[in-house]
Amino acid sequence: MVIAVDGPSAVGKSTVSRRVADAVGLPHLDTGSTYRAAAMAAYEAGIDLDDAAAVVSAVDDADIDIVEGVVIVNGVDVTGELRSDEVTAASSRVATLPTVRARVVTLQREWVERHGGSAVVEGRDIGTVVFPNAPVKIFLTARPEIRAARRSGDAEAAEKPTDQVAAELAARDQRDSSREASPLKPADDAVIVDTSDLSLDEVTERALTLVDEARAPKLAALLDAHTPPTIALTEILRGVVRSADPALVERVNLGWHGLGYHHPVAGYVCGIFPGADEVRLGFEHGVELPDPEGLFADEGTQVRYVVLSEWTESARTALGDLVDAAVEFSSR
Ligand code: C5P
Repeated sequence: MVIAVDGPSAVGKSTVSRRVADAVGLPHLDTGSTYRAAAMAAYEAGIDLDDAAAVVSAVDDADIDIVEGVVIVNGVDVTGELRSDEVTAASSRVATLPTVRARVVTLQREWVERHGGSAVVEGRDIGTVVFPNAPVKIFLTARPEIRAARRSGDAEAAEKPTDQVAAELAARDQRDSSREASPLKPADDAVIVDTSDLSLDEVTERALTLVDEARAPKLAALLDAHTPPTIALTEILRGVVRSADPALVERVNLGWHGLGYHHPVAGYVCGIFPGADEVRLGFEHGVELPDPEGLFADEGTQVRYVVLSEWTESARTALGDLVDAAVEFSSR
């Protein structure tokens, strides 16, 4: 799943996004650095930023990649230079150009796809434009004076008076919110979190709760719609292995987690178990189940299951399709 974290600068977006990514075991993409990289590409080519056509062409020609947080432009690691005042100002200028945005957005989507289709992605337009179907959309805000105080605490701003930091933030906000192409604004279905009076731990907790809520009801709805399941789960299991992206199927294992359902006639148990960072589909075939409650309470019960390491859209679809096929098969 994509977890979109949007908002203006200096609201704690990066720290919160990294923490959420660590907690749920997903990669993290800071899309601000892709615009910064685009600005670097134009800058390195010695282009006047007012010459939109030349900027677009330099960005188009540039080879931009982010590998484990290291930003590479045309083969050179530019990570150390990305947060200078010049690049910061230049990035929000090149980001107003629709053609530059189109190129950079493609790059962002490809990056997420290459990383398995699931990630915590932070930026300004992730929930509105880049991943409008993201199941979790968080928009962070904070009062201007709080943001200026936070930014003043950053290493790059340490030497500057707070009112200068506040003025620079305001100028960038103005450019980001008033541009025609993908302006900074919350998606209609984003949850807005005002971080002004919250600690980083509190904001992270809030975000993780939203992630849990987005996952759980969908799984619960899927299970509710198909309870009890009506086909030997081995079929579903085989199907999942066949149709889910093989990269998602991490291992087949023995163990017992979560809650399951049993079919009284066919005598098997299945469960789809949402975990913090994985989904398990399990089955046990051919067992007598006079007392399923008792069975589920038995920690020692061994159930085979596959682990889908990422609850992505494709895994969700594959699983949903399989359960539908299973229901149809058994009602013949
Ligand atoms: O987040 P960061 O401050 O690194 O972003 C630098 C600039 O890149 C922003 O001021 C904004 O103009 C642009 N940006 C954007 N859309 C994003 C992320 C960043 O327009 N998704």
